[in-house]
Amino acid sequence: MYDFANILFAGRCNRACPWCIGKALPDRVNVDNLSLWPLENLDGFIERVRAENVREIVFTGTVSDPHLYRHEALLLDHLRARLDPRTRYSIHTNGVLSLRKMTVFNRYDRGCISFPSFEPDTYEKMMGSRRVPDLSAILREATIPVKVSCVIDEPNVAELDGFVKRCHRIGVRRLVVRKLFGETREWDVLRDLPVVGRFKGNPVMDYRGMEVTYWDFDKTECRSLNLFPDGTIGDAYRLTETPQLERSA
Ligand code: SF4
Repeated sequence: MYDFANILFAGRCNRACPWCIGKALPDRVNVDNLSLWPLENLDGFIERVRAENVREIVFTGTVSDPHLYRHEALLLDHLRARLDPRTRYSIHTNGVLSLRKMTVFNRYDRGCISFPSFEPDTYEKMMGSRRVPDLSAILREATIPVKVSCVIDEPNVAELDGFVKRCHRIGVRRLVVRKLFGETREWDVLRDLPVVGRFKGNPVMDYRGMEVTYWDFDKTECRSLNLFPDGTIGDAYRLTETPQLERSA
């Protein structure tokens, strides 16, 4: 049973994160699919999603952002027409184009914005650009639930308390603080927040009604089906551990 299925995009990106996990994948996987219709092996993916009864589809990237996909709205329509009507769709994006593409953004069932800092200096160290998306405006314009995903690393760890407060102030309802994939250090963060539950083994805390999850990829047990940009269908939650990529190497 899979928790969700990812559709992965590759090509140029409008940010340059040093920790971009997709760059650790073999080059042949990261073929530019930003203009491609239909996506490589889309029919095969739809068949697998149907066969496995997966009800959550995520548009995300290996080395690019789903808002850069030229046929984003068409792909959403195509999937909604072909998959079970109870299927839910979400986008995981850096948010850079979300305001400009708000009509499409609001056609998903929910969105997740990868956003590590409000401070341009810190943001640049983590995302390779000083231009910080206007998260507050995205939240105001969004008609769907929006989660914020904050990677935690040396440049932003000291800011985290203030970051949590500011997220709460601008109306974030769900925040995920994520350790980097393969990170062995334990960050001394979020200690003062009461733990109110667990999700996939990760602690869920509360900050004045805002849900704050501390996510550790390496300890998380999820199952996902993944359509890679070259058409490979993989079934490992941690993309770099995909057995199907090893076999076709
Ligand atoms: S925004 Fe995402 S896809 Fe783009 S460089 Fe950063 S991690 Fe990689």
